[in-house]
Amino acid sequence: MRPAHALIDLDALRHNYRLAKSLSDSRAFAVIKANAYGHGAVECARALADDADAFAVACIEEAIELREAGITRPILLLEGWFEASELGLIDQHQLWCVIHAQWQVEELLAARLSAPLHIWLKLDSGMHRVGFSPEEYPGVWRQLETTPQVASLSKISHFARADEPDTGRTEEQMAVFARATEGLEGPVSLCNSPGVLAWPQAHNDWLRPGIMLYGATPFTFPQEHADSLQPVMQLQSRIIAVRELPVGEPIGYGSRFVTARPTRVGVVAMGYADGYPRHAGDGTPVLIDGQRSQLIGRVSMDMLTVDLTDLPGSGLGSEVRLWGKGLNASKVAAHAGTIAYQLFCNLNRVPRRFTSSFSASAT
Ligand SMILES: *Cc1c(COP(=O)(O)O)cnc(C)c1O
Repeated sequence: MRPAHALIDLDALRHNYRLAKSLSDSRAFAVIKANAYGHGAVECARALADDADAFAVACIEEAIELREAGITRPILLLEGWFEASELGLIDQHQLWCVIHAQWQVEELLAARLSAPLHIWLKLDSGMHRVGFSPEEYPGVWRQLETTPQVASLSKISHFARADEPDTGRTEEQMAVFARATEGLEGPVSLCNSPGVLAWPQAHNDWLRPGIMLYGATPFTFPQEHADSLQPVMQLQSRIIAVRELPVGEPIGYGSRFVTARPTRVGVVAMGYADGYPRHAGDGTPVLIDGQRSQLIGRVSMDMLTVDLTDLPGSGLGSEVRLWGKGLNASKVAAHAGTIAYQLFCNLNRVPRRFTSSFSASAT
């Protein structure tokens, strides 16, 4: 078998969820949209089934997959529904819904439901993506408050820059939120991972940790709590070929890298078709048998090349870790001009292998 695989440590996932909870008295949605950021939504949900207060996903397809896998905890649709025809399934599966636009209000009012829904009304407090404006918000709230289709009403908004401590923007969004929701009674949820980790004053009733559950830091600087996260995904493979090159030899497509010294090159069974970023530059860190080395040459579809010159003990068959414990995906992402979120979500082709000391979740 091709040695490329992603080892998913479900104990680390549980550790990270518990860390989020330990930072506040709030409840927390485990955000497992996009196949749990590439980690496997069903396995991750099962691993958190006894811990998580609720789950959050991006769409009804993701929610139904969880319900069909036996997940009974509340599941929030972070963007609600996309067309009215979903309301029947939302009713059937008892999904919690964000409402972010007037057309959703109208479709809800027209819906025939077996039971009223738990609604999270979204405020655009400054992200300017989705949600009601501060001027519209109280009116929509008052309208939904007295609607028979609504079982409970909660307040939700999203930060644009919570990963940057000093912009003032998060404080501004909190102030907009406070003004727009004044006098409206109901639970509040504002915090994504950087909010959970760095903005305790914004924790309120429900947290929404996503990326931190998977052990990647949302910050570009060391941060006390983020630094205690445990990477969940180890992206791994092996060296499948080795060659010795003299000075001045190009490696790979486009000859991006040319040897500046006699170089021992290791070829790794991992490429951009697996989700490893093609934009990773020369010098992107990798771990070979647990030791730091670096990418040299352009990443190709199924293979990439690393420098073995200073690792004489490593060679054919050596284990290569592209990210995971000992090499945070955020670091790799920075070398590829992207973020760990995208690296995880782009995972492709490689089989996932799950490890867990917790037997109930072994699936
Ligand atoms: C994805 C998402 C989150 C989780 O964000 P992270 O930065 O991964 O913690 C929280 N809230 C909403 C509305 C989201 O879409």
